[in-house]
Amino acid sequence: MKKEAEMPDVVGKELPHLWNAMHRYHPGAQQMVAASGEGSWFTDESGNRYLDGVSGLWCLNLGHGRQEIIDAATAQMKKLTYFPLTMSHNPAVKLANKISSLLGGGYQTFFSNSGSEANETAFKIVRQYHKQTGNPDKFKIISRYRAYHGSTLGALSATAQANRRVKYDPGVPGFLHVYPPYHYRSIFGGEPEESDLKAAQLIEEMINWEGEETVAALIMEPFISGGGVIIPSMQYIQRVAEICKKYNVLLIMDEVVSGYGRTGKMFGFMHAEGVQPDIITMAKGLTSGYLPLGATAVKSNIYDVFKEEGKDNHFRHVSTYGGHPAACAVALKNIEIIENENIVERVNELGKSKLSQLHQLMEHENVGEVRQIGFLLGLEMVTDQKSKVPLEDSKMAEIVSKCKKKGLIIGRNGDTVPGQNNVIIIASPLSSTEEDLDFLVETVESVICSV
Ligand code: PLP
Repeated sequence: MKKEAEMPDVVGKELPHLWNAMHRYHPGAQQMVAASGEGSWFTDESGNRYLDGVSGLWCLNLGHGRQEIIDAATAQMKKLTYFPLTMSHNPAVKLANKISSLLGGGYQTFFSNSGSEANETAFKIVRQYHKQTGNPDKFKIISRYRAYHGSTLGALSATAQANRRVKYDPGVPGFLHVYPPYHYRSIFGGEPEESDLKAAQLIEEMINWEGEETVAALIMEPFISGGGVIIPSMQYIQRVAEICKKYNVLLIMDEVVSGYGRTGKMFGFMHAEGVQPDIITMAKGLTSGYLPLGATAVKSNIYDVFKEEGKDNHFRHVSTYGGHPAACAVALKNIEIIENENIVERVNELGKSKLSQLHQLMEHENVGEVRQIGFLLGLEMVTDQKSKVPLEDSKMAEIVSKCKKKGLIIGRNGDTVPGQNNVIIIASPLSSTEEDLDFLVETVESVICSV
């Protein structure tokens, strides 16, 4: 590893004033302080170089340092530094048009700053929509166990991962959780498609037991990501969409991770033919992490309910920085690059030719299942394939730490669901070079074989 920078006095110490996200206090533990980045790699303040196998927090899709994106932000800041979206500005107008066309047309977009906010916005929209369309009792929002939808209280209430929530409960009233399409450990057994369809059936049962007149919406990631990369059969997604339609339950598709090419389609739901969600939420890959931006795209027929003349029916929701001009300009440039450089096709091809080599790890007794779609990959680790007992925490930590020592950052669904935090997560930048991916695959293989 190359030494690049002088060691500042924070390295190796508890940081004096910074409270890092998810930070656990370990006296004397070495903290990573990043200094610079280039492509899919970054260098820490001690000069160690790492391949970022999780794209930051699943967001740095085009990697560090794309000059065109930086120029787009600078030019926009010079031209119009800030403007609120209580009125509008050109980059937001253009971006909303672009998002609608990427979704097939007919969507109106509300901008915010993050994935959590995009989901909060969606929850408020669905509740108000039903109130204004003669269904004032429809307020409940269903999500699936293992899903992550954000950290603010509403989004956390939709997040059905017990360990993330327990310190902050009770959550917001009206959020319900249902069994996920997790065929590897499904109580239903049988083929994946069959067990997933039974999981979908539980959603219909829940709507009936709760009373359809009380259920407003269902939120789902097409592929549960942070909760352990759970990839259902496409028939499951189609069936859930049908059930939602049948009961006038709005379908919110959380594309915060899966949007903008990560899974080999522009949006994850597009893998399931015929599915057209009522609301689609986005963040992360929308700007490739260059600036914060969240978006809630809503079908026009829903939006129409918020603009009837002479009624007090407007959406009473505002965010000072939501849809910041520079962030919208960055998103437009990011999407232009994704299109011009055929990033979605690239993800498909390299997902198949490179990342999929990790499926060979199924020969290893500790690998229970390899789940992959495009550049989203999970390795479910077990003590042995037959018992499927989750690999113990210390071994999981050892794998992550050994990869780091070899210069590769990987993720895991650590400490989210009781007893099942045994999935290694790989979500490298979509612009990773073939050499980057070779290094990633070789490192993961060698570390898993050594543990
Ligand atoms: N939805 C999903 C699927 C996510 O993975 C995340 C974050 O990881 C969020 C929402 C929340 O996004 P943010 O951290 O930008 O608030």
